[in-house]
Amino acid sequence: MVYNVINDIYDRVFQNMEKKMIKFSLVKPLLHNSFDPNALKVYRRLREYHHKVYFVGGCIRDLLLGRTPKDFDIATSATPQQICKIFRNARIIGRRFLIVSIFFGRKVVEVTTFRRSPWKDGTPDSEQSKDLLLLSDNVFGTDEEDALRRDFTINALFYDIQERTVIDYVEGLKDLQMGKIRLIGDPDLRFAEDPVRILRALKLQATLHFDIVPETQQALEKNIAKLSRAAPARLLLEMEKILRGGASYDCFERLASANIFSIIAPDIHRIWHQSKNAGQMLKSMLHGLDSLSQKKRNSLKESVLLASLCLPVVHLYKLPGIVGDEFCKQKLSRLASNISISKKLVERISHLIQIQWLLEKPRFMGHKNKKFLHSSLLPDALEILKMQAQNDAKKQEIYQFWQQTLAHELGLKASQP
Ligand code: ATP
Ligand code: MG
Repeated sequence: MVYNVINDIYDRVFQNMEKKMIKFSLVKPLLHNSFDPNALKVYRRLREYHHKVYFVGGCIRDLLLGRTPKDFDIATSATPQQICKIFRNARIIGRRFLIVSIFFGRKVVEVTTFRRSPWKDGTPDSEQSKDLLLLSDNVFGTDEEDALRRDFTINALFYDIQERTVIDYVEGLKDLQMGKIRLIGDPDLRFAEDPVRILRALKLQATLHFDIVPETQQALEKNIAKLSRAAPARLLLEMEKILRGGASYDCFERLASANIFSIIAPDIHRIWHQSKNAGQMLKSMLHGLDSLSQKKRNSLKESVLLASLCLPVVHLYKLPGIVGDEFCKQKLSRLASNISISKKLVERISHLIQIQWLLEKPRFMGHKNKKFLHSSLLPDALEILKMQAQNDAKKQEIYQFWQQTLAHELGLKASQP
């Protein structure tokens, strides 16, 4: 099916056998208005300064599939320092992987410099192969080398807007047509050097409904235990992408059946296999998240997003009547250290959970002293309640009650002089 969608839209215009590079000209170029305007500004500016620059990654994969991209990644020959000289609103972030963030008000465009594999000739020597885990990935290279060090073939397509061409070093367009997820290079090495790619493969599979090719699947299964060494901060980033991706339920199902949660987040593992209570709550929150529009999911605050995991975790341990702040924080501590949720964020989430509980308590509905309704976290707590209400008639009723009550109270306040 995917094949037919893409088949008619390009002509092969150039093939370099030595470099294994093929340029495809799109008969119908990707529309400029499908790209983020700020990302286009960055693209044009870098070209004005005679740097090589391409759109790459998920945005090209998604646009070719007729999907709306979540973000627009730009890769260039300019070094981070050169980029910062061109854009005054730019800042270099990251350590393991340097990225330049260019700020446009509250919006950010991320630019990376072409990199190459950190291993000489693409494979580690005997000394290096003792520990393949990559702690840094900042050796700059050419566009071809950059394509080869990316994760999956369908994520390594460059797009040149000016020339209207897709530049493909890894036969990614073919895999996109055939609906295949294939790790670039030796799959065993590529999963061992960065086990987070295992989560990325399963996320892609859940989102696009593509097949993981057998060699990649075998290597994935072989390397699952290595996820215990993945940096918690990177797990958090991927987890947030999964939650915002629109297929979080499917993805969690795949992660759970591969036993991955038992390694990266034992609380979630326990909850997922509970058919009632916390298990049901987590599943219904994921369904709730997936049924939001992409725009809405993208704009959800980090605390609200992560509450979909944290609320079921606290619920797992909750005893009737105990709703204290300390209790919540304590129960969240293991998950927080597994996926590196900051102390400040845990505090915020724990407050949110408590307000959310108060909203659910029938006695507060008729009560005069509704102090918690003046909390600045109330809109976020309502958002969490709404997420649960998508699949729960009782919570739907409670949510509607508060919506009406608050509209009434706010209406009264607005009409007072
Ligand atoms: P999404 O739609 O979630 O943004 P994406 O594929 O664009 O999907 P990003 O995290 O935005 O994912 O990464 C951008 C690109 O960077 C990827 O498409 C891929 O080419 C490359 N990349 C990201 N993570 C890795 C990794 N762990 N190893 C190698 N390449 C990676
Ligand atoms: Mg992306």
